[in-house]
Amino acid sequence: MKIAVLSRNKRLYSTQRLVEAAEARGHVVQVVDVLRCYMNITSHRPTIHYKGDKLEGFDAVIPRIGASVTFYGTAVVRQFEMMNVFPLNESVAITRSRDKLRSLQLLARKGIGLPVTGFAHNPDDLDDLIGTVGGAPLVIKLLEGTQGIGVVLAETKKAAESVIQAFMGMKANIMIQEFIKEAGGSDLRCFVVGGRVVATMKRQGPEGEFRSNLHRGGTASLVRLTPEERSTAVRAARIMGLDVCGVDMLRSNHGPVVMEVNSSPGLEGIEKASGKDVAGLIIQYIEKRVGELKDSTSRSKTRGQG
Ligand code: ADP
Ligand code: MG
Repeated sequence: MKIAVLSRNKRLYSTQRLVEAAEARGHVVQVVDVLRCYMNITSHRPTIHYKGDKLEGFDAVIPRIGASVTFYGTAVVRQFEMMNVFPLNESVAITRSRDKLRSLQLLARKGIGLPVTGFAHNPDDLDDLIGTVGGAPLVIKLLEGTQGIGVVLAETKKAAESVIQAFMGMKANIMIQEFIKEAGGSDLRCFVVGGRVVATMKRQGPEGEFRSNLHRGGTASLVRLTPEERSTAVRAARIMGLDVCGVDMLRSNHGPVVMEVNSSPGLEGIEKASGKDVAGLIIQYIEKRVGELKDSTSRSKTRGQG
């Protein structure tokens, strides 16, 4: 197969591992910086140009699109889709997953356990908003935040009110959430590929920190999921429509609650903590899907001739 990896930096661990795994299985791989792609949109022959050449003959594209380039990045993925290239994660699913409120609403609708969550644009009654998530302590999150930046624990109602007012004064979009204290500063990352949890890790924040993000000094270790946690991760991935994703959940007193579903989950932490060749599993999944697609198109062609 010929595979494009959409990534802004060849040297990133995840990008390198995907290239290595694909080449080890005999595929040809090109790393493509999405921001350097330019395209034409026509109904007969949509094309993508890159550094003066046409990108042609690809069987699959692996989007590794950073949050800051979601808009242009998903447009490039969509262009590959128009050219009948198999996308590992469709553009619509990536867009969906990048909107935290939309994701939580979709998951809630299908009965996935979530922390009790509230959101508001400019509430007249802060008291009532805070009451909807059960009062302090509570967690306040910037919708645009990643890597734990923009996630604040307000221990008292007074603190919650002033932080919410400060964020609103800056016109930032926020949500507030029940604080799952019993998680003890840890969360679970479940790595899902093609409807299966292929690797998991438990992340633990440093002493005194409720955020477990590895970027905030958290450490990762091996963990065994309960059947309920496993099925929650698989269902969350299916609801979001993602082939590959990282489902993050907290162990609460009322069962697993999903915090977010990440459509470009990093490989470094999970491969090192779990000892699994996640990149290899991703490439095998692409082989399977591309094979199925080829079978079905060749079948429909034969039918058309008959
Ligand atoms: P980001 O997208 O910045 O990673 P998250 O929503 O994943 O934001 O929150 C970062 C971390 O904060 C989580 O990994 C978790 O450890 C902790 N956390 C987030 N929400 C809650 C909550 N409601 N209760 C307890 N801990 C939380
Ligand atoms: Mg997170």
